Amino acid sequence: MPNDAIPPCQCTFLRHLASDPESNIRYDPRLNEYHIVGSHSLTMIYHCPFCGGRAPKSLRSFMFEYLSDTERQRLEHLVSGLDSLEAIQSKLGPPTFDLDPGKPHANEATDEREAESDPFYRILTYEALSDSADLTVQVRRSGEVICIIHAKPHRQAARTTDPASNSALPTTQTPSASAGAPR
Ligand SMILES: [Zn+2]
Repeated sequence: MPNDAIPPCQCTFLRHLASDPESNIRYDPRLNEYHIVGSHSLTMIYHCPFCGGRAPKSLRSFMFEYLSDTERQRLEHLVSGLDSLEAIQSKLGPPTFDLDPGKPHANEATDEREAESDPFYRILTYEALSDSADLTVQVRRSGEVICIIHAKPHRQAARTTDPASNSALPTTQTPSASAGAPR
């Protein structure tokens, strides 16, 4: 957690890193947060690694419901060990939203390239599991599933935000379960 007793970062180290396309540090202007981008996760940066100063004040609490550790753990437990789409649907039932692009055309030369650039073949969203969090299930073409638990957009914010842009809200929480070994 950020230590409010520490003065804000005065150097430009984080800003500099975030503007470097080779670095895995990114700035999210909507949340006013810096993140370390991993292959399946985003980790929030609370303090500047160079000067030790506090990172800018996050706007997250204005945009998202509060997700307690207890509730996060309950949801993590719920999806623990679910390593296929079938297992998830059998345990959780039908999702609130199911973004299914359909079967790819087998005879198109671009298929392989598309599979690489679009690794998530199908995305399921469960909104009814919790009052404070939603679950997103990303299904790769390989069959691997990745469960991401993230705080719900604030009801106030959701009302004043264009619904079409809600789906673009970043999933800034660490994935709960990376079920299924990469093949
Ligand atoms: Zn600094």
